[in-house]
Amino acid sequence: ADEDLETVPLSFPSISMSSRERRWSDTTPYSSKKKLQSWFQLPNGNWELGKIISTSGNESIISLSDGKVLKVKEESLVPANPDILDGVDDLMQLSYLNEPSVLYNLQYRYNQNMIYTKAGPVLVAINPFKKVPLYGNDYIEAYKRKAIESPHVYAITDTAIREMIRDEVNQSIIISGESGAGKTETAKIAMQYLAALGGGSGIEYEILKTNPILEAFGNAKTLRNDNSSRFGKLIEIHFSETGKISGANIQTCRVVQCNEGERSYHIFYQLCAGAPPSLRGKLNLQNAEDYKYLRQSNCYSIAGINDAEEFRTVMEALDVVHIGKEDQENVFAMLAAVLWLGNISFTVIDNENHVQAVEDEGLLHVAKLIGCDIEDLKLTLSTRKMKVGNDNIVQKLTLSQAIDARDALAKSIYACLFDWLVEQINKSLAVGKRRTGRSISILDIYGFESFNRNSFEQFCINYANERLQQHFNRHLFKLEQEEYIQDGIDWAKVEFEDNQDCLNLFEKRPLGLLSLLDEESTFPNGTDLTFANKLKQHLNSNSCFKGERDQAFTVHHYAGQVTYDTTGFLEKNRDLLHLDSIQLLSSCTCPLPQIFACHMLTQSDKPVVGPLHKSGGADSQKLSVATKFKGQLFLLMQRLESTTPHFIRCIKPNNLQSPESYEQGLVLQQLRCCGVLEVVRISRSGFPTRMSHQKFARRYGFLLLDNVASQDPLSVSVAILHQFNILPDMYQVGYTKLFFRTGQIGVLEDTRNRT
Ligand code: ATP
Ligand code: MG
Repeated sequence: ADEDLETVPLSFPSISMSSRERRWSDTTPYSSKKKLQSWFQLPNGNWELGKIISTSGNESIISLSDGKVLKVKEESLVPANPDILDGVDDLMQLSYLNEPSVLYNLQYRYNQNMIYTKAGPVLVAINPFKKVPLYGNDYIEAYKRKAIESPHVYAITDTAIREMIRDEVNQSIIISGESGAGKTETAKIAMQYLAALGGGSGIEYEILKTNPILEAFGNAKTLRNDNSSRFGKLIEIHFSETGKISGANIQTCRVVQCNEGERSYHIFYQLCAGAPPSLRGKLNLQNAEDYKYLRQSNCYSIAGINDAEEFRTVMEALDVVHIGKEDQENVFAMLAAVLWLGNISFTVIDNENHVQAVEDEGLLHVAKLIGCDIEDLKLTLSTRKMKVGNDNIVQKLTLSQAIDARDALAKSIYACLFDWLVEQINKSLAVGKRRTGRSISILDIYGFESFNRNSFEQFCINYANERLQQHFNRHLFKLEQEEYIQDGIDWAKVEFEDNQDCLNLFEKRPLGLLSLLDEESTFPNGTDLTFANKLKQHLNSNSCFKGERDQAFTVHHYAGQVTYDTTGFLEKNRDLLHLDSIQLLSSCTCPLPQIFACHMLTQSDKPVVGPLHKSGGADSQKLSVATKFKGQLFLLMQRLESTTPHFIRCIKPNNLQSPESYEQGLVLQQLRCCGVLEVVRISRSGFPTRMSHQKFARRYGFLLLDNVASQDPLSVSVAILHQFNILPDMYQVGYTKLFFRTGQIGVLEDTRNRT
């Protein structure tokens, strides 16, 4: 019977700093004369609650908690909520909605391990950085029975399940937040709930086991998070008609490579620490410290983590997702090959700095592990086949070119290995092609980033977030507002900044950031400086763009301005892998390198025809890194388009990964970035529940005590509204639908259920 009731989450606008600040101030008339306490901002930026002792003119005397008494201007005070509202579980309930009140409310709850709070339709989750007693079967059971009402990942996941069944529309849970804010943990908690409710076939166990695998291969310790995901992930979990999990599919979106000064992917350390003796022998494995690639960061272990144990967990998980022992060994051989590649060295052979690969341990082991001829490997790493006119020539590489070629090969093998693993996992979890309208997707994607120095990685990540933000806007705001307008209801139009201009800045062809980057990357003489100049030349008229001194530029993102330094952009965007290297892989006797070579070739723009070496400078045919990323992102967004979204915003309370500290400034900055307050403000002012006149009359008409003169649905509806005393500003009558503020339908539903 629930099908008649349509509750739509409201509005997620994007607002620039200035206009956001303007509208942040609560419009509720406020006078400290009537109030006992107010927020006062200390010089360090933190807010403190002050008791108002007296007010005269436009000045107030307040006393702070430490006993200090201050005389302050009245306009510097921000209204505080009455104590009875301390720790409300939905920010919508706050009488005064302003920054300090929200910060305080979240902190109040956080201090009591209530890390989840609703902000209208959005769930805010603050990372506790410690075990909190909120999970496990008892809690799952309680949320399932609706015995607990407090906000939780379980609750939002439960809503997604119910709406999936009720509406037969695919759902998505979109998790965002900064690095270390808790997205991946939150995604796992949601998966846990889905597995508990939709489990039974055993496939849920397989799905959960994909987590340790993908984390081992895709996560690394960084300065901000010991278990940082270096990829975005969308997992689509399918349900049968009976509500049981029937399979899943994973899509990934990778851009971030490990930075120097940070540990590499977990799996390398796990392999070195945990491989059993027979495997060690086969792969000629050494300790992590013996590999140059792992030595770069000088960080080999993570506090509280036993890599050897983790390795066993990964091997077990690989079994569970049906990756055979032989394939597992092939995978480990590729990992070892990557490690040994890093140890290959070169000697200079002439006075033009040309080099030859040294026939050292590294070279021999790589050749053996991938199954190629030693001489071929040597040649591939130190020369490059080129086509000049009609002639094929062989060019010797200089030391830096050879090192680039070697590193590009290692990176490509690893990237292909990751993609291959995801593909195998997907095969194991496969569901039939038929889309049933019964799936829940969970998106765990890197949040907006703004550092002192921002490079190509931030450029890609922030572009992705700009796309995602448009998705929020569309679903939570635009569609909403359009519906109000279409139905002719009087709803004060809420302004919001569409971020289409910023997306255009990135995506427009030929004069957009991405196109210009690709163009410059293919010019042999292109440099980061010529790229920066080209941007300034072509994009200065775009209001979201500003050229900066040196080779920098600023983009006006929805979440604030970010200045990017173009140093390294072109190199990071070019795929440096030589065609010779792909050719080498395709000649290997081991199965995985062959598959990888095939994969790399199909990723090229144009198919490479004929013998590889004849196509010469085919590097230009390969897709650039940014273009590949954009393609992956579009696939992800496409999946999300057809779903009903549920949003979780993860917040990091401090930069120390510490359970004890709540830094107001840091939290505030994140709240601003994701527009949490805007959501609440608009949700409060909107009409999130709506029903057509017909449905409303049909659903509640029988509750009418008096006869209505006219039987048309609108008259019946209006009579019901009168009988139940629904106040005029709590609803709006549209051309086709009735619109209600939050909580208004409750009394009708209760009466209906009792009758
Ligand atoms: P990144 O973008 O770098 O991948 P993330 O947002 O995915 O970051 P997580 O890896 O999920 O961040 O969380 C970082 C750490 O915070 C976890 O390893 C864990 O220690 C802690 N953490 C996060 N959420 C919770 C939670 N609900 N309960 C306990 N600890 C948590
Ligand atoms: Mg993560």
